Amino acid sequence: MKEAVVIRDVSLRDGLQLVQTRVPTATKIEWLNGLMAAGLPKVEVTSFVPSSVIPQFSDAEQVASHALNVGGTSVSALVVNLKGARRAFDAGFRNVSYVVSASQAHSAANARRTTDEALNEFRLIVSERNARVDGWAIALECGIATSFGCSIQGGVDPARVLDIAEHLVAGGADSLLIADTVGYANPASVRRLFRGLFTIVGSIQVSAHFHNTRGLGLANVVAALDVGVRHFDASTAGLGGCPFAPGATGNINSEDCAFMLDAMGFDTGINMDMLLALRRKIELWLPDEKFHGALACAGLPKI
Ligand code: ZN
Repeated sequence: MKEAVVIRDVSLRDGLQLVQTRVPTATKIEWLNGLMAAGLPKVEVTSFVPSSVIPQFSDAEQVASHALNVGGTSVSALVVNLKGARRAFDAGFRNVSYVVSASQAHSAANARRTTDEALNEFRLIVSERNARVDGWAIALECGIATSFGCSIQGGVDPARVLDIAEHLVAGGADSLLIADTVGYANPASVRRLFRGLFTIVGSIQVSAHFHNTRGLGLANVVAALDVGVRHFDASTAGLGGCPFAPGATGNINSEDCAFMLDAMGFDTGINMDMLLALRRKIELWLPDEKFHGALACAGLPKI
């Protein structure tokens, strides 16, 4: 029996957050249906961020009401603060993600608060979750952005990332997500950091979120696999990016990542033909965007 590796597709959230074209809610729902039909086991469907900050997600509640009423795929939402967490809980999400930034400079620029203030906000979100009658059913993931480096401040001390991870686990995180937000990781630093994390976080799930900013995305996936990571974020068509790394490619590409994992003998449960067909639709929906990914260019190899 093949070992399962889980890809969570973040194209509807990380992918869309920098897309200037407003995608209609009906198109997002078709997009989500396409991901579900292609067998993606997990999808991050939206972000509860003030619409004054990212208008693209002003329909978070409408997307949620569809996403939460179709079975088969586990859906999650990103929240940026306590207010967003309340909206996500009210909408009915049972998987909610929040992010703190290991880099002070990135935290200030991206979230306008220090890392410690962001950690404090997480404590408030945990308290809010715990106070709800259905709080026991809500799983909180906390991501650590810029875990390997930051385009504003440069290096990030791995000891700081481990320290933040320890705080988050003690503070009520049900799972962690280690993010290389701007492409500073390499396979050696990935192995070192995840090995360190696994010694301190116990049995809780630690996922990886790599960007292909400098072309090392899939190499970093292999390095993380080597040390035991089995959950990865990826984005269909490689959509996504970061305002602090202009011109760079975005998240690792879901199609290429799934193809690699399947070729290595893992089971992703993803139907590659259906995912590639969805990608072609996305290209039509977003004619002004740049897309990335090798498989879409070369096609699947002959079996
Ligand atoms: Zn990202």
